[in-house]
Amino acid sequence: MPRPDYIICLECESEVEDFTWRDGEIRRATCEVCGNSDPDAFALPEDFEELDEEEEEEDWEDEEEDEDYLDEEDEDFEEEEE
Ligand SMILES: [Zn+2]
Repeated sequence: MPRPDYIICLECESEVEDFTWRDGEIRRATCEVCGNSDPDAFALPEDFEELDEEEEEEDWEDEEEDEDYLDEEDEDFEEEEE
């Protein structure tokens, strides 16, 4: 299998071009968006599309809420200059 142009970060679904490809597998990858660097947590674009279709067929009634808002307080300071 040839090296793809990019892979998909499964953590944040970003396209990642910074990765090492060898023997048809992702050897090393780093997502610049979320910092994910686990090769198992990336997928090829074609695999990712398949995963997506599978998910749509199943009816998930799990309502998990992301509690990602804890660290968002440092956007609060304003600097006023005249
Ligand atoms: Zn990511």
